[in-house]
Amino acid sequence: MAAQDQAIQTKYYATKILNTETDSKCRPCQQFDKTIDHIISACTILAKEQYIKRHDGVCAQLHFNICKETGVQLDKKHWYEHVPKSVETSQGGKVTIPWNQQVQTDRTIPNNIPDIIIRDNEKGTCMLIDVAISGDRNVIKIEAEKILKHKDLAIEIERMWTVKTKVIPVTIWATGTVSKPFRKYVSNIPGNMESRNYRKKKPYWALHTYFVTY
Ligand SMILES: [Zn+2]
Repeated sequence: MAAQDQAIQTKYYATKILNTETDSKCRPCQQFDKTIDHIISACTILAKEQYIKRHDGVCAQLHFNICKETGVQLDKKHWYEHVPKSVETSQGGKVTIPWNQQVQTDRTIPNNIPDIIIRDNEKGTCMLIDVAISGDRNVIKIEAEKILKHKDLAIEIERMWTVKTKVIPVTIWATGTVSKPFRKYVSNIPGNMESRNYRKKKPYWALHTYFVTY
């Protein structure tokens, strides 16, 4: 368990069991106990803005690396200043990268907005990337659900664009923990294969330290 997580837990136990602190309630919502699970993924007040920010932060970092790797001209030097455009195109136009865009399909597909799409016309490939910062410890289960969620869209894209299509789930348990296959999934994504740097990058990926202050 990470030190920060222990710190949160200690606060909770100090209040509940030792009775040394008076307030064990979550400060933003004042409704539920300040447990790790609550703070990192279950608080309705934090969900309105902070969880979305955290999800979009991970997406922006992935997107920045993809753009750099595929030769998209970027205005910013760092991922945290990067604001993804709805569609980026590499110089030469071989790779297009729609961001949070609905895919127009002939038949109705309910889940048709992946976080990031990488369509490589030269290689004849397409990647559908779906990011989740999960409150559920069972990250493997979420990854499987994400792949299933976009299966129909992947099949439809293969047919429409005649490109080999893959769904890549990027799922991080909200404490920063990832599954064993995580690195394999992420290494498929252009510009994100330096998975051994994952530990160093963890603050950006997980962005969970923010919540410790609550
Ligand atoms: Zn709360």
